[in-house]
Order: sequence, then structure tokens, then C-alpha cells
Amino acid sequence: MGTREELEKEVKASAAEIEKVAAGEVYWCPNCESELAEHEIKEGVCEYGLGTCPNCDNDVEVMGMYDHLGDPLDVNYIVEKSGDVKAGRVYLAIGGPNIWIDTEIKSVVGHWGATRIEAALSDSACVAVNDVLENWFEYV
Ligand SMILES: [Zn+2]
Repeated sequence: MGTREELEKEVKASAAEIEKVAAGEVYWCPNCESELAEHEIKEGVCEYGLGTCPNCDNDVEVMGMYDHLGDPLDVNYIVEKSGDVKAGRVYLAIGGPNIWIDTEIKSVVGHWGATRIEAALSDSACVAVNDVLENWFEYV
């Protein structure tokens, strides 16, 4: 890492992954936490009808935004007077480049020294992230 191009690539890849998760296009095995392409999924009878994991035979599931965001490095909330979460930031990287999801400006933002990169997120992706933020905020 060290160039604007690398930061831009990482920010855009993060945004693209969030869009894919929001669209329900990412499959994973919650047991061994492998992300799986459709052709990697083994045929098998399972609860979700998607097949089984080639690594551990667990049922494959569609990855939810909650799963994707996992246990983030840090989270900032924007809370309305009523106490409802309006938007927030989920930090994906801190220290080298700082990269975060910002649902208020509907973007993934990368910041490094004087360089700032933004990749836009769709409304539906932001709704999915905000749902997770609301859920987390109940435990803050
Ligand atoms: Zn597995």
C-alpha cells in the first residue's frame, strides 16, 4: 500500500462487496467462514437449498450484511433526538489508510494523508448497513 491507486482500488472493492452482499449475491459457510463462488458449492440436501460447503460439509447460506460486517474495528453512530439511529460509520481499516462505510453520505471513504477517495453506495446497501447499525446500537 502506498499509492492513491491502491487506496482507490481498496475503497472500490469494499463498496462493490457491500453491494453484492446487499443484493444477496454472496454465498458463504458460517461454519468455516469461507466465502464461496456458486460453482464451488457442493450439491447436497440442506435447509436453505443452496448446497453444502466443499471444505466442511456445513450448509451454505446467503451472506447477510450482519455477517459481512462482522466485528468491526470501530463504529460511529449518528443518532436522532428521538434516540433512533439515522446513519453511521463502520471502520474497515484504521491506522494505515483509514477506510470506513459512511451511510450518511452513502459512500465508502478512504483517507490516507492528504488523499481522500469516495465510492458511492446505493440506497439499498445503505439501508442494509443502517439495519445492522440499529441492531448494534441496542447493545452500546
Ligand atoms: Zn465450511
